[in-house]
Amino acid sequence: MKKDINEIYRQLGIEDDVLDYSEKKLKGLRDRFAGIDETAEYNQLKVLRALQECRVSDACFSASSGYGYNDLGRDTLEEVYSKIFNTEDALVRPQITCGTHALNVALSSNLRPGDELLSPVGKPYDTLEEVIGIRPSRGSLREYGVSYSQVDLLPDGSFDHENIKKAVNERTRLVTIQRSKGYQTRPTLSVEGIGQLISFIKSIKSDVICMVDNCYGEFVERIEPSDVGADMVVGSLIKNPGGGLAPVGGYIAGKKECIENAAYRLTSPGLGKEVGASLNVIQSFYQGLFLAPTVTASALKGAILAAAMLEGLGFKVHPDADTQRHDIIQAVTLGSAEAVISFCKGIQAAAPVDSHVTPEPWAMPGYDSDVIMAAGAFVSGSSIELSADGPIKEPYNVYFQGGLTFPHAKYGIIRAVQQLKNDGMVKLS
Ligand SMILES: *Cc1c(COP(=O)(O)O)cnc(C)c1O
Repeated sequence: MKKDINEIYRQLGIEDDVLDYSEKKLKGLRDRFAGIDETAEYNQLKVLRALQECRVSDACFSASSGYGYNDLGRDTLEEVYSKIFNTEDALVRPQITCGTHALNVALSSNLRPGDELLSPVGKPYDTLEEVIGIRPSRGSLREYGVSYSQVDLLPDGSFDHENIKKAVNERTRLVTIQRSKGYQTRPTLSVEGIGQLISFIKSIKSDVICMVDNCYGEFVERIEPSDVGADMVVGSLIKNPGGGLAPVGGYIAGKKECIENAAYRLTSPGLGKEVGASLNVIQSFYQGLFLAPTVTASALKGAILAAAMLEGLGFKVHPDADTQRHDIIQAVTLGSAEAVISFCKGIQAAAPVDSHVTPEPWAMPGYDSDVIMAAGAFVSGSSIELSADGPIKEPYNVYFQGGLTFPHAKYGIIRAVQQLKNDGMVKLS
């Protein structure tokens, strides 16, 4: 049996030494993987329970058009999300075009001129810089008179309580907490840690809205930030909660008032949640959500295998292979533009779609340097599907994430290591 597997890997361009190396690393990860499977089992049941309690039926999968009044599938799905995230309400829509859009809607609808937004966990995700106006941008919060302040994490990755306390003032209306590291090498926050931060902030000012950018974190743990006090959690459906099937969309789950504000902003004052046809995509939102816990588990295993393999080859990896995970992103410091390009070529070559194309760095809207992205995805730009991207700037990190199935994530990382070997960037001893 083993012989067959080695043979098909060989046909797909993998040399025996690279495969042997991956098997050696995999052996050491069995217990980790068993823990991930248990979390997936827990979350699968959590999703199933919500679908059952909301009495999801065939009628929920019908397409709606036009205004989308009384769209049963849409309204029921929003109820399902509220149950899973343990919130009063949710907005889950194909009209939310991406994660940045969801975050922009959540922020701009809950802030008013004169208010201040605080990030107590350092610089937010690149695209948020333009939403907030950290980089001057048309239509930013800053143009609308919303100011911004930031407190960085301490060098050891912990919260800077003293300076957070100083930063909270009478104008502080909303605090944004990014769970995932994004394009940084800081640690990803655990849900428990986010809960402690929220408690601390509410002890200083109880009526401040705490929003968590939950991108890439959904279903990695058994609880979500909304279980530990977040007033809003926000994310993209072409990441974890879409399970690879949602072709577009974003969600905001949280307190009733926050979600109402967001709905009036997304559609229109006076209309709110009442309009917004779910078109033909609603069934994929449900089915993707159903698959999301196991898809997230596959992606997590891929990330850990990548960490183990690349760490063993002498690269710095964040987090390392032994660290407890709180999101699906694996950062690897490859140290040169050439190695980033080589790694991404390997991921692309492993894809089910467009494996014959060669990725190249280019200027992406919302990012301040060229970015190379490897993705051969069924859903364009989906990063719950196996993908890798790296901004072409110091320290030349590549961010590896996704994998709808573990065998694919595994092949992807093996293929990337093979590519680094082919291009003379690594030696397997
Ligand atoms: C992906 C991501 C976003 C933005 O999502 P897009 O869908 O790319 O607009 C925001 N924050 C974090 C942490 C992300 O990972």
